[in-house]
Amino acid sequence: MARLSKSRYLAGLQCHKRLYLDIHAPELARPPDASTQAILDMGSTVGQTARGYFPGGKLVEADYRHKQDALDQTAALMADPTVPAIFEAALLFERTLVRVDVFQREEPADGNGACWRLIEVKSSGRLKGYHLDDLAIQAYVAIGVGLSLSGVCLMHLNSEYLYPGGEIDLTQLFTLCDVTELVMDRLKDLPARLAAMRAMIESPASPAIQPGAHCHTPYECPYWDHCTQAKPARWVYHLPGRKTTAQVLIDQGVETIDEIPESVSLTIIQRRVKDNREWIGPALADALARVRYPVHHLDFETFMPAIPRYPMTRPYQLIPVQWSDHIETEAGRLLHQDYLSEAPEDPREEFTRRLLDSLGDRGTICVYSQYERSVLEQLAELFPPHRSALQAVIKRLWDLLAIVQEHYYHPAFGGSYSIKSVLPAVVPGLSYDDLEIGDGAVAAREYVRMVFEVTDWVERQRIADALRAYCARDTLGMVELRRALGEKSRGV
Ligand code: SF4
Repeated sequence: MARLSKSRYLAGLQCHKRLYLDIHAPELARPPDASTQAILDMGSTVGQTARGYFPGGKLVEADYRHKQDALDQTAALMADPTVPAIFEAALLFERTLVRVDVFQREEPADGNGACWRLIEVKSSGRLKGYHLDDLAIQAYVAIGVGLSLSGVCLMHLNSEYLYPGGEIDLTQLFTLCDVTELVMDRLKDLPARLAAMRAMIESPASPAIQPGAHCHTPYECPYWDHCTQAKPARWVYHLPGRKTTAQVLIDQGVETIDEIPESVSLTIIQRRVKDNREWIGPALADALARVRYPVHHLDFETFMPAIPRYPMTRPYQLIPVQWSDHIETEAGRLLHQDYLSEAPEDPREEFTRRLLDSLGDRGTICVYSQYERSVLEQLAELFPPHRSALQAVIKRLWDLLAIVQEHYYHPAFGGSYSIKSVLPAVVPGLSYDDLEIGDGAVAAREYVRMVFEVTDWVERQRIADALRAYCARDTLGMVELRRALGEKSRGV
């Protein structure tokens, strides 16, 4: 009989088929992509930092491949009354193994043996419903092996914490939230859920569960590619917008976007996806002609450290670290300027000064989405001496994404207006496929590696070059996109 674990139990709560595949065909799972890996890495960093909250705590060193060693080490540490806290404690009950982030020893007032506070560390900024299931399976096993629990807590980042500089105050960085009652409430259904999962696992075939909205929450399921491989290219689930619309259609037996009945009310974008042909709005030329030269094409890259790295920042505060500006003159000449912070110090002041120099005080500033606006607004708030200049820059912003959404559609968008979808469709030959860094999540992760982790200067230079190439592609892409849309609007 297969052994369960905390992660398998949570997989089973999301979808029985996911649990079945985890046990019988894990090779079908897609490996974590760069953004998922970045989230996992962030979670590990936060978990390790949280251990400093419990001075004198001891780590169970044995990893998941050495389960019996982990169980033995945990038992030894529990038996040692001088150990105030155990990190990564391993417990096994009814063939369910859990690792507990923190077990804090507490001596009860009656002196009747130790009791334990069970603590799960999360890198999020607040308690979420599925955290309670995570804690419930741990509490179930802990109680099952006979431990006395004094409380069950979630320890998460305090998103209000303003890091003043120097050593981080862990008691301020983290919030310890007692959820004992909520978790105990979830224990009532837990044995029945475990029994159902065990029975399902022993079945000869995986459950016939169709993919749908449940595949993305609370976690992205790694079996999505496997479960959807037989679906048609224009599967109705790919209709953009709220997935509830697609789910209703699926429930009505509609399989492809082309089969959606005309009577169904669709948004404008959904209608264009259903029509599936190139569409050029009659006002596209006018919209494009509103720019003033020189036209700047601007893109930012940022990162959001869970644990603040710079004074006067909070957990997950967005830190802009890089920009690229392609400048097109009225005569059609193209200039390029960029900035990439390569030092570990707070880059925001230099980022701002150099940006203002590059943008000057003339011309439209073309961006793709409202992201740059929100970053500029934060910088204006942060740096009063630059505030009026930044506000003037904000007034010059011109969002090319809004122009595309309002005036153009191409079937190759597949319903997505991300520049990663739009660019190759409108400007064939210009994509991100040839770049080492191909999306913002990878760029953020590589930036952190370059500045804080890699010591070899050759490797640092390689990452810096790749980051510059990626950000420059975004802004060159906007230049080419504007030009290509202009040709389309003129019927060229
Ligand atoms: S992709 Fe969806 S249906 Fe398939 S295993 Fe994952 S959650 Fe279940």
